[in-house]
Amino acid sequence: MRRVSILGVTGSIGQNTIDLISRAPDEYDVVALTGAGNIDQLAADAVRLRADVAVTAHDDRYEDLQAALKGTGVAAAAGTEALIEAAARPADWVMSAIVGAAGLTPGLTALEQGATLALANKESLVCAGALVMETARVNDAQLLPVDSEHSAVFQALVGEEIAAVERVIITASGGAFRDWPLDRLCHATPAEATTHPNWTMGQRITVDSASMFNKALELIETKEFFGVSPDQIETVIHPESLIHALVGFRDGALMAHVGPPDMRHAIGYALHWPERRELPVARLDLAQIGALTFRAPEPERYPALALARQVMARGGLAGAVFNGAKERSLDAFLAGHIRFTDMASVVADVLDWAEGQAGLLDAAMTLENVRFADAEARRAADMAIAKRAGATVESVRG
Ligand code: NAD
Ligand code: MG
Repeated sequence: MRRVSILGVTGSIGQNTIDLISRAPDEYDVVALTGAGNIDQLAADAVRLRADVAVTAHDDRYEDLQAALKGTGVAAAAGTEALIEAAARPADWVMSAIVGAAGLTPGLTALEQGATLALANKESLVCAGALVMETARVNDAQLLPVDSEHSAVFQALVGEEIAAVERVIITASGGAFRDWPLDRLCHATPAEATTHPNWTMGQRITVDSASMFNKALELIETKEFFGVSPDQIETVIHPESLIHALVGFRDGALMAHVGPPDMRHAIGYALHWPERRELPVARLDLAQIGALTFRAPEPERYPALALARQVMARGGLAGAVFNGAKERSLDAFLAGHIRFTDMASVVADVLDWAEGQAGLLDAAMTLENVRFADAEARRAADMAIAKRAGATVESVRG
C-alpha cells in the first residue's frame, strides 16, 4: 500500500486527486488530509478514505472538526503547526494543493521527510523556487509538476536532455475576458472573472486566469522547475486549451502535449509516475475538433506577463514580493475594493517599492526571508490598494 497525504484536499485539485485514489482504494493508505473552512467536506473525505488525521488550517474550527469526526477513528487537528505536522507524517506521496503562499511550508516539510511531492501549488516555486528545488535535492525527494502546462513539459522531456531544449511554449486560454473590448476590462466584476471558458478550477486561480496572473506565475514556475532561462520561455494564447505546452528542441522539432482540459490527467501522471496507467479522461476526437488556433497575447490586455518578465530578470526574492502583492490585490478585487485592472497596477507599484527597500530583494533565500518579503509585500499592497480605494488601510484589510 502506498501512503498518501493530500494537502488542500477540499479544493478543486484535492477533489480530483480523491477521485483517482478512490477508484483503487486497496492501493492507498491515506495518512493526512488538510483543508481550511470547509469542515463538512474535510471530515466526510477523511472518514470515507479512512485517513489517520484530518487538519483544518483554521484554529477556531478545531471543535467543529473534532465534533464531525467523533467516534470515526480519524484524529482531528487545527492550525498552522498542525498542518506542518501533517505534512511531516511519513508518506510516500504527498499532493501539495493548498492555494497561495500558505502551501510553501507544508510542501517543504513533505520534501524534508523524503516524500514524492506532487506540486500543484505553483506559488511555492514562484516565492522560493531555489529553496524548493534545493530541499528536494538534499533530501533525495522527487518533485513532480501537477500544473497542466508543467506536467506537459515534463512529459515532453522524458528521454531528452535539457541541454537540447531551445524553447518552452506555455499555452494560455486567455481567460474570461480574452475577447472583451479593452476599455470594458476596468468594469469586470468578480462574478464575471470567476467564470472560466474551459477549465473548472478554484475561484482564485480562475480570476488569475482572466488577468493572466496565473500565466505569469507559470512562466516563473517554468524557469524554476526546469532551469531554463527566461528568454527561452514563451506563451501563446490557445483558446481551445487542448495543447497544454510545447517543447522546442535545437533540431527545430516541437513536441506538443495534447489532451482534454481535465486536471485528472496531470494529477494521475504524477500519481503513477514513472508508469502510465489508464486514467478516466476523455479521449479526443481530432476530426470533430477540426482546428486548433493560436494568437499572441496582447500586452495591454495582460500586463501581468510583463511583470513576470520583470520578476524573472530581477531574481532574488522578487517572486515572493510579486506573489504576496498579487494575492492581496486579488483579495481586494474579490472584496470590491479595487477594479480588475487595478490588480496589475498594485503589483507593479509594490515591485517598484521593493526595489527601494535596502536588502529586501537580495536577502538570502531562506524560509524566514521569503516569509518576511511576502509579509512586506502584502503590507505595501494594502497601502497601494487603500490609495486606489480612497479608504483606510484597515478597511481594505477586511
Ligand atoms: P481551491 O481554492 O479549490 O482549493 C484550495 C485548497 O487550499 C482548499 O483545500 C482549501 O481549504 C485550502 N486552503 C485555502 N487557504 C488555506 C490556508 N491559508 N492554509 C491552508 N490551506 C488553505 O484551489 P485549487 O484550484 O484546487 O488550487 C490549488 C493549487 O493548485 C493552487 O496553487 C493552484 O494555483 C494550483 N492549480 C490548480 C489547478 C486547478 O485546475 N484547479 C490547476 C493548476 C494548478
Ligand atoms: Mg496551469
